[in-house]
Amino acid sequence: MRSKWKSALAGGGLGMVAALAPAPDAAASHQVPGFEADASRLVGAITTKGVVAHMNELQWIADYRNGNRAASTSGYAASVSYVRRKLEAAGYRTSTRSFDYPYFKEIGTPVLRAGGTGYTAETDFLTMELSGSGSASGRLVAIDVQIPPPATGSSTSGCEASDFPPAGATPAIAVVQRGTCDFAVKVANAAAAGYRGVVIFNEGQEDRTDLFGGTLGSPGALPAVSTSYAIGQQLVDLAEAGGTGQLEVRARSETRQTYNIVAETAGGRADRVVMVGAHLDSVPEGPGINDNGSGSAAILELALQMAKLKVQPKNKVRFGWWGAEEYGLHGSNAYVAGLPDEQAASILAYLNFDMIASHNYAWLIQQGNPDSAADKVVEQVFTKYFQRARLPYQYSPADGRSDYAAFSAIGIPVGGLFSGADAIKTEKQARLFGGVAGQPLDPCYHKACDTNRYISRRSTLVLSRAIADTVYKFAMTERDIRQENIQAAQARVMSAQAGEEARYQGPHLVR
Ligand SMILES: [Zn+2]
Repeated sequence: MRSKWKSALAGGGLGMVAALAPAPDAAASHQVPGFEADASRLVGAITTKGVVAHMNELQWIADYRNGNRAASTSGYAASVSYVRRKLEAAGYRTSTRSFDYPYFKEIGTPVLRAGGTGYTAETDFLTMELSGSGSASGRLVAIDVQIPPPATGSSTSGCEASDFPPAGATPAIAVVQRGTCDFAVKVANAAAAGYRGVVIFNEGQEDRTDLFGGTLGSPGALPAVSTSYAIGQQLVDLAEAGGTGQLEVRARSETRQTYNIVAETAGGRADRVVMVGAHLDSVPEGPGINDNGSGSAAILELALQMAKLKVQPKNKVRFGWWGAEEYGLHGSNAYVAGLPDEQAASILAYLNFDMIASHNYAWLIQQGNPDSAADKVVEQVFTKYFQRARLPYQYSPADGRSDYAAFSAIGIPVGGLFSGADAIKTEKQARLFGGVAGQPLDPCYHKACDTNRYISRRSTLVLSRAIADTVYKFAMTERDIRQENIQAAQARVMSAQAGEEARYQGPHLVR
């Protein structure tokens, strides 16, 4: 699960739609039409011991490799080897495909000083994700700014190379206003004109006055920070008075390579593929046994048990373990971007499992696009499992924080299960699931303590079995919910066009 970085700034948080498991109703159907296949043999083969054994192995891998399994580390490579070895021993053919992703890590406190004032990082200004590393001191130059501000989104400051007077021989820092084009464009233009650093201040109208977080999308050439409109005004005044400033960012900002591992059943229709995915990388801060050793272990054990029981799926089942999820969903994005249209069209649904063993768990059915009838069907198939098993559950609206996002964006029906990350357990959830209200669902989310000693075995078993049941029903269905999604895909294209000016890459604004 991806961090909800500075949610107050990025806007939007993780909402939870409450849904008490209704009392079993004899009149209500316990199956979704077309998804009636009896998975009990496969579900019964999924055991706590079987799933936890994989999580223990991933813990052991991290213990011997700097305590984590983050993308591009030896811990990640060993995790992939383990998954591959297990799959191949069970008769699967596996494939790995590498991809590049932008890596960014700040390694020092950034500095912004101007006209004798030292500004405070995090409070007054933020380093842009993928900012270049380095320091700049020199003249402040305001680049085609508009004060008072123009209508929201319409400042063109820094969008054209010609906005920048050549910096010349004396070092200069560009003071640029947010609006119209991506931050990356403004920074690239400043670099081309010979500037040494860039401050991008908020545009000044409506919700664009405060400090905001942004990304350059790929490693930038110059140190770049963002700030509020108010501080932007101070910098512009100083620039007009011939003042100077200092800007420093210390970071590793570079393109790195990592890979995904994919395997599929030999049997089943190739034109009807059920995809099951989990990210295999951890954050650098810890071993990532819940996030997401747990989802990885559950789908691995499912693949192994399907082979062992010689399940003959009607539809092909393809398993994907994604890399670099924690740096911005890069593995699943790369996979989807690399799918030829014909192959993308063959995917019946994508089911995502990111965190199923949260210590203070809630059982959450991950919803897809609310406009998609097909996503609703996926949600129902999961729901029926909990209802038949008389287990509590809730719904979690799609927030784009995990690997289903790339699949959903091209109109593939999506859904999933997860047991909670940094959201605080409510009183109601404590009544439904037990555990401690007022504490995070996973108190070790993205921390060093996300170990195999701090997982819920009960949640691991319940959700692993719910996964097995649902995947089996999708493997056996003859229903085609993709057709039900076509209208939704069209609606999505229209809403994407309507929301053109505020755009995100993961949790970060790009403009
Ligand atoms: Zn995560």
